[in-house]
Amino acid sequence: MKTLKIAIQKSGRLNEKSVELLKNCGLSFDNYKSSLITQVSNFPLEILFLRDDDIPEYVQDGIADIGIVGENGIAETDVDVTYLQRLGFGKCKLKLAVPTHSDIKTVADLNGKSIATSYPVILQKFLDKEGIQSDIKTISGSVEISPGLGLADAIFDIVSTGGTLRSNGLKPFADVMSSEAVLIGRKGIESDALITELMQRIQSVMRAKE
Ligand code: ATP
Ligand code: ZN
Repeated sequence: MKTLKIAIQKSGRLNEKSVELLKNCGLSFDNYKSSLITQVSNFPLEILFLRDDDIPEYVQDGIADIGIVGENGIAETDVDVTYLQRLGFGKCKLKLAVPTHSDIKTVADLNGKSIATSYPVILQKFLDKEGIQSDIKTISGSVEISPGLGLADAIFDIVSTGGTLRSNGLKPFADVMSSEAVLIGRKGIESDALITELMQRIQSVMRAKE
């Protein structure tokens, strides 16, 4: 019998809720952190534990049939996958922020300024749409400290409560994207009977939570 593969985040903000969702769907598996692949014992499904950044491409290329990832992750990699379902967790916003006393007050004020981010693709698309030209500085983490270090005039980052921004003397001034975890699949997988079965289980778990 055919076995499906699902890719979920190995560790990080989506890992725990992804594992919980699969368990709530009645799937039995060992969640050993050290093993990168685990077999579900009561459903023809294998779970691959990956970095979230790699999941969209693994799904696009069919190495995994489906995956759980933030919408921002898909937007950033620009892959061609099918959105199967929103999952209601991992909610966050991607915002532009500046130091509290900055004279940048609007998106238009970003023209000619520098912006530090780990999400250059989403940011560039937004700036193009707004007709703004800025110097995007791509860095992989600790984006919030870059204005204080003189690396950038503004930042573009994921914000959930705003606490990290505040403690770094930053204030958000524009929302660019809202994101939550979604189930994605490779093209054509939506007609697979096992996927239909799994999605029905996910939907009833989500209904039970409402
Ligand atoms: P990995 O090691 O897998 O690359 P990461 O450090 O890139 O992990 P996480 O910080 O674990 O990523 O975030 C994964 C996803 O969780 C984000 O892309 C986003 O969709 C979602 N998310 C939800 N809330 C937050 C938040 N407060 N901060 C960051 N990401 C959040
Ligand atoms: Zn990542």
